[in-house]
Amino acid sequence: MSLPFVTYSRNVFIPLTNVCRNRCGYCGFRRDLGHPEAKLLTPEEVKNILLKGAHAGCSEALFTFGEHPEEVPGFNKWLLELGFDNIIDYLVELSKLSISIGLLPHSNPGILERSEFEKLKSYNASMGLMLETTASVKGHEGCAGKIPESRIRSIEYAGELKIPFTTGILVGIGETWDDRVRSLKTIKEIHEKFGHIQEVIIQNFIPKPATGMASSSGPGIEDMKRTVCLARKLLPSDIAIQVAPNLISPRELIECGASDLGGISPETIDYINPESPWPNLLELRSMVDVPLRERLPVYPQYVKKGWYSAGLKHVIYDLSDAEGFRKTY
Ligand code: SF4
Repeated sequence: MSLPFVTYSRNVFIPLTNVCRNRCGYCGFRRDLGHPEAKLLTPEEVKNILLKGAHAGCSEALFTFGEHPEEVPGFNKWLLELGFDNIIDYLVELSKLSISIGLLPHSNPGILERSEFEKLKSYNASMGLMLETTASVKGHEGCAGKIPESRIRSIEYAGELKIPFTTGILVGIGETWDDRVRSLKTIKEIHEKFGHIQEVIIQNFIPKPATGMASSSGPGIEDMKRTVCLARKLLPSDIAIQVAPNLISPRELIECGASDLGGISPETIDYINPESPWPNLLELRSMVDVPLRERLPVYPQYVKKGWYSAGLKHVIYDLSDAEGFRKTY
């Protein structure tokens, strides 16, 4: 398959909290509340990251969370000290801060109620939630947030509210080939109902030390190629297929139909995969055989359709070109 270009965005990664109600068997990000590395970023810390991102020419503030940390006893004390009684209201304030600095928020807060999506919609250019898999896998045992039906319901709420959305599958966490087919077909069906899925990440599982799945193997390149080919075949053509160039070499996956390289941060690390640095732009160019084109966290088709709130309009207008990609100066 020959593409005229592949896309990417420039972001800052903001790990708002690593406290999480779940305990996924592959997660190296989550920390128990008493752990010295457990944290909830303060507004000042977030502001510093946002300012660095704006200075580096980023367009996106990627807010990432442990899921429903308020269900972890003791966490709410941290929130109250900052003047908030729930994490979603705190995220709304930080999203407003991001907009005021000129970065478009893209939040991944885990599964949400419809009312929570409604609160965030006005202040987020796009949002995301990995489906991961429709299968019940051992790595998700005891994780309330990893029940596939709950994740599907969240993705559908975002669709009802016309929120441009990122989802994806995690490859190699114990699912079968048929499970991958089912997961991708589920995403396809949701998109056919609501039309809001802008990209599907095909992410290869990487084992992390000191986790339940530390001794498991991630998928090889052949498995990933086959999965990307399958995704391209099953998913509607207006959904981009994203692969992560800090986790796997993208060249052959682009030949299979991948068309996006995700967020590349010049200022922050990938806190979920801290052992895998993002390539810089020069390195990224050398990793692919097609030109690169920068996009915003919201894809061009949704910029053109006006799927954004009045409060985001001026930032989107400042950052986008006539086709809805990132403006070049
Ligand atoms: S992968 Fe996400 S949901 Fe699972 S434990 Fe880690 S932070 Fe929580």
